Amino acid sequence: MKYPSTQNYINGKFVDASSQKSMDVISPVNGEQLSKLQLSNAKDLNDAVSAAKAVFPAWSKTPIKERVQVFFRYKTLLEKNIKVLAELCSEENGKTYGESVAEIEKCIELTEFATSLPQLVTGEVLEVSKGVECRTEHVALGVVASIVPFNFPSMVPNWTIPNAIALGNCMILKPSEKVPLSSAKIALLLKEAGLPDGVFNIVNGGIEIVEAICDHPEIEAVSFVGSTKVAKIVYQRATSNYKRCLALGGAKNHLMVLPDAMPAMTAQNVAASMSGCAGQRCMAASAMIGVGNVDHIIDKICEEARKVVPGENLGAVINKESQERIERYITEAEKQGAKILVDGRNIKVAGKENGTYVGPTVIDYVTPEMSVAQEEIFGPVISIMRTNTVDEALAIENKNPYGNAASVFTQNGGMARYIIDRASAGMIGVNVGVPVPREPFSFGGWNESKFGVGDITGKSSIEFWTKLKKSTTKWNPEAGVNWMS
Ligand code: NAD
Repeated sequence: MKYPSTQNYINGKFVDASSQKSMDVISPVNGEQLSKLQLSNAKDLNDAVSAAKAVFPAWSKTPIKERVQVFFRYKTLLEKNIKVLAELCSEENGKTYGESVAEIEKCIELTEFATSLPQLVTGEVLEVSKGVECRTEHVALGVVASIVPFNFPSMVPNWTIPNAIALGNCMILKPSEKVPLSSAKIALLLKEAGLPDGVFNIVNGGIEIVEAICDHPEIEAVSFVGSTKVAKIVYQRATSNYKRCLALGGAKNHLMVLPDAMPAMTAQNVAASMSGCAGQRCMAASAMIGVGNVDHIIDKICEEARKVVPGENLGAVINKESQERIERYITEAEKQGAKILVDGRNIKVAGKENGTYVGPTVIDYVTPEMSVAQEEIFGPVISIMRTNTVDEALAIENKNPYGNAASVFTQNGGMARYIIDRASAGMIGVNVGVPVPREPFSFGGWNESKFGVGDITGKSSIEFWTKLKKSTTKWNPEAGVNWMS
């Protein structure tokens, strides 16, 4: 085992979980056992909530300009530790080193946004009547929780940690049990940055801990990022316990390629979007709709896909179960009559025989009823459908229950606007394969890709992590105005 067993992090210390149960943390790169994750129970969560609750009065009363100083230092520490963090991310998640560096760079950008929060949370004051003022303030909620998935071991935790904590909350993080090591490193960096003990805590585990978070009477808000199936469970359970909840789910993102699209640029973008992070991105291109004759572009997409080599510029998928699931989808599509133009099944990487790899896969002549057209595959696979018109393409995109992202590739501005207006997705790209809005713009999908109000990052997160206090004051009894008692 490369690292010691992974403990919880409560009140500024790494501590054993109380259940005595554990699970192995395996690297998808080569099957090496990295650690044993100690699984927590409700007692561990209670300990973390008590620690967070105890420090909340002091932390929330610390002026925001002081609170964000921690995140200026944290940002510098992320920069200093980028190599260590990226290596850890690749080891536990399987993505390439370059992709992990990009992930940590994104953490830096997210933290940079948090340091600007004092500029964004100034309240409003207005003299509403002679001597009478109304004023608003953003007030921290209390103890909050963040439940995260495996595919971005550092970035998704950092969607919530800097903003929620800079805004005065104390947090319990529940990492994915598949990739808990990056979170532990984040805890150390936050401590080094001067975050007081108890403000940030980690409780490791699986379903039992997620349910305990949703039920805990002293947790005020829960953010969740993961699959739609679990997002629905968490959203229902947390809100039925009267908590604020924002739950981001899965995706099936459609790229619409028009015949006037620039062939080389489109092909590079499509191939990078479907294969980057081994397709394990909620913003990955998963379905492509070719409108009219785009055969020349599909040929180039295949050329680009063939340049993506597992174990070199393509990382592993998270585990064997995932590898088998992705390969089953490809085989099923083939049996249903789709044509596999580039086939990523049965991949073995020399020297990493126990790694779990799927090569880039391009499937053509997919029909909208096939499961590869409808379901989230979460692997480096693109399913190509064909239509004669843009409206037919939009009908396919609109019918899909998800709504994270959609993109169009065209040189026609009017057509791009037509699609932006009609695609049923929260994040739209024009000639962009992965249309993630950069800070300060907020991240969040529509439909079954998100449950709850607002987005998880950017300015939108301020509304989620704070409540508004409205005060009305009158300091001029001499005015004799008495329209408010
Ligand atoms: P997942 O839903 O299996 O797990 C997410 C979290 O929920 C983990 O911490 C896990 O321990 C917990 N969990 C799993 N099953 C549970 C259950 N039955 N009850 C309660 N908790 C449970 O997701 P994953 O496989 O870790 O991540 C991949 C998914 O996340 C994909 O669907 C992807 O699209 C999605 N995702 C979405 C976004 C977004 O912004 N919309 C971002 C990243 C990932």
